[in-house]
Amino acid sequence: MLSKRAESLKPSPTLAISAKEKALKAQGLDIAGFGAGEPDFDTPSHIKDEAIKAIKENFTRYTPVGGIDPLKDAVIEKFKRDNGLEYKRDEILISCGGKHALYNLFQAIFQEGDEVIIPAPYWVSYPPMVELAGAKPVIIDTKEEEDYQITAEMLKKYINSRTKGIILNYPSNPVGSIFYRENLEEIGKLAVTHDFYIVSDEIYEKITYDDYIHVSIASLDPEFKKRTIICHGVSKTYAMTGWRIGFTAGPAAIVKAMNNIQSQSTSNPTSISQMASIAALTGPQDSIAVMVGEFKKRRDFLVSELKSIPGVSCYLPKGAFYVFPNFNAFLGKRLNGKEIKDSSTLTEILLEDYHTAVVPGVEFGKEGYLRLSFATSMDVIKKGVERIKKAAASVV
Ligand SMILES: *Cc1c(COP(=O)(O)O)cnc(C)c1O
Repeated sequence: MLSKRAESLKPSPTLAISAKEKALKAQGLDIAGFGAGEPDFDTPSHIKDEAIKAIKENFTRYTPVGGIDPLKDAVIEKFKRDNGLEYKRDEILISCGGKHALYNLFQAIFQEGDEVIIPAPYWVSYPPMVELAGAKPVIIDTKEEEDYQITAEMLKKYINSRTKGIILNYPSNPVGSIFYRENLEEIGKLAVTHDFYIVSDEIYEKITYDDYIHVSIASLDPEFKKRTIICHGVSKTYAMTGWRIGFTAGPAAIVKAMNNIQSQSTSNPTSISQMASIAALTGPQDSIAVMVGEFKKRRDFLVSELKSIPGVSCYLPKGAFYVFPNFNAFLGKRLNGKEIKDSSTLTEILLEDYHTAVVPGVEFGKEGYLRLSFATSMDVIKKGVERIKKAAASVV
């Protein structure tokens, strides 16, 4: 008999779609894959060299559970340099990826009876991770036509004595939306007044476009910083998804609790990856601009192509590497004799009949939308978009 916890848990739908995409490719099918949630770039050489050096020098044993001091110092330096935020070593934790940091954080601060506010569209893992901690996700819908903002007025309707936290992800996965500074101020003030935590997932901080400059909510007011826990990592910024290094910055008592959870579960993140991550955070940063420049070209092409489809609208992402086009106009219609009931059936038809892999919006709490990653080559994007256009033209 499985535990109740395990029985009700679904695997991550984005990872499941990536796996399906890979399986179909392995069968020899020419799949245009928009499922990927990771940069298609190689980890920069100077980072890889540091890992090789660590292996050769036998830096291959357990490290302190919460990471080695030189990496914590590199993270401290990053927050000072990029965000004007001051942290001490006991306010920093290194984990096995940003996802692990979030998981440990939720285990440390949420429990039965707590409510956690999550703006939708949300990253797929937030609600199940909140539930695994015993707490209840409370979803606030945000709208494309309102630039996916949350205002104080909207938020107030969801706050009560059980509210223990809010999860903010900016730039966001799946939309690439951000929160305006004035709205971050309002959210911060409500967190102070009603005494709840702000979980700030800033993993896409460095992947931004046009004139958007990322501002962490923690940097807006010392009172906000006291109740904000920033979850971050090297996966997206340095094309290091497989290395599994994430980091947290927040109040020492919370970091200590997370460290204890880590010490009874994973122990330290990989020693070799920690050395590589020091090189990533303190070494040359020019690979980021190269990657972001390439992403921007793809974003501009993909958004303009999608918007050219009659009935489709699409938010222009300010960051991250996803677009989230609105296909609501197609729901209830038919394609190749099949009814497009919802975003999941549209996704199935696109994969089976058009060999194009996307993720249904419903997985992110937004029906009628699709998520397409542009962390894939321009060739794949061109091919895939042609197929989507062909599908759209056949909808009756
Ligand atoms: C990718 C991602 C993460 C964490 O990724 P890791 O590889 O575990 O560091 C966290 N939050 C969001 C929104 C992401 O897209």
